[in-house]
Amino acid sequence: MQISANFDSGNVEVIDASNPQQVVLAIRPDTHSGHFQWFHFKVDGLTPGRQYGFSLSNAGQSSYPNAWTGYHAVASYDQRNWFRVPSRFEQGALNFDVEPQQATIWFAYFEPYSRARHAQLIDQAQRLAGAELLATGRSLEGRAIELLRISRNPQASRKIWLIAQQHPGEHMAEWFMEGVIERLQQGDDAELNALLAQADLYLVPNMNPDGAFRGHLRTNFAGCDLNRAWQSASEAESPEVYFVQQQMRVIGVDLFLDIHGDEEIAHVFTAGCEGNPNFSPRLARLEQQFRQLLIDNGAEFQTTFGYTPDQFGQANTTLACNAVGLEFDCLAFTIEMPFKDHDDRPNPHTGWSGERSKQLGKDVLGVAAAMVGQLR
Ligand code: ZN
Repeated sequence: MQISANFDSGNVEVIDASNPQQVVLAIRPDTHSGHFQWFHFKVDGLTPGRQYGFSLSNAGQSSYPNAWTGYHAVASYDQRNWFRVPSRFEQGALNFDVEPQQATIWFAYFEPYSRARHAQLIDQAQRLAGAELLATGRSLEGRAIELLRISRNPQASRKIWLIAQQHPGEHMAEWFMEGVIERLQQGDDAELNALLAQADLYLVPNMNPDGAFRGHLRTNFAGCDLNRAWQSASEAESPEVYFVQQQMRVIGVDLFLDIHGDEEIAHVFTAGCEGNPNFSPRLARLEQQFRQLLIDNGAEFQTTFGYTPDQFGQANTTLACNAVGLEFDCLAFTIEMPFKDHDDRPNPHTGWSGERSKQLGKDVLGVAAAMVGQLR
């Protein structure tokens, strides 16, 4: 049996593989940071039908130790179809057993969104009607951060921004963006036509390519949490945020959605700007309307579970959502999808998945279409 993680978004260290029924592994921390939770590794040379056991021995010291309770790892034989493997959080370790059907299997914290797929997505997006690669930022390690614009009406006055995967282990965020781009490919879509008659879309499908490639949970190459850098972005520490912020200041923002995954909460939810000092009845009404429309449109979404709302004036404005909502006085949301499942509509086989993330992206476009006339 060979275990490897030396590939795109791979992360695991082998501590002791002498007993195939109790392979002891550890998750590697983010570069220049103590954060860790994301894991992704390949196991070769298995005997189908035999039982193997894997133990992520340092899970209890990870960034979100409570996240392992009720969590099940994902596995795949082909890196396309991912399924959940019953997992147990015991004495600080995450343990799972498999009787593989094939000699090679991959395990991960969530269905990975690869750099290869990212490259295809950017190509696909540039072929959309009205699309262009407007600008390209560079990560600390020189990877591209693509800003795409979709503009189908020169008179469109609204600017709608969607950015994803500031936290690099939150791969569901780029699956969401793939759903957005897939829906934009459909020709005959009355909702989208209405949206694009009034608004241009600005899409950043991956904000943190270094972190994603390196198998990080939370930070960029410098150990910077990009979603705590929106009041201090610099070319030296957080060029990823600096680039997008500069573009926003040139272009303007009328609606901002920042796409994330949450390790602990087994529901899809939003976090808004209620703690911002400029939060007004207008913004409160827009937030309420956005959430209600998602529910009314049948999206996998709910408002019972989520983060405790901030007190007025107490927002942490280093977060993208709060920073952009404050600077541009616009509707701004963090959209959080689960690593576990959306317990309102559980699927024990897949849990929350890339496919469900994509569908949410499509549903969110429908809500943006319904609201585009009221953003200002
Ligand atoms: Zn996040």
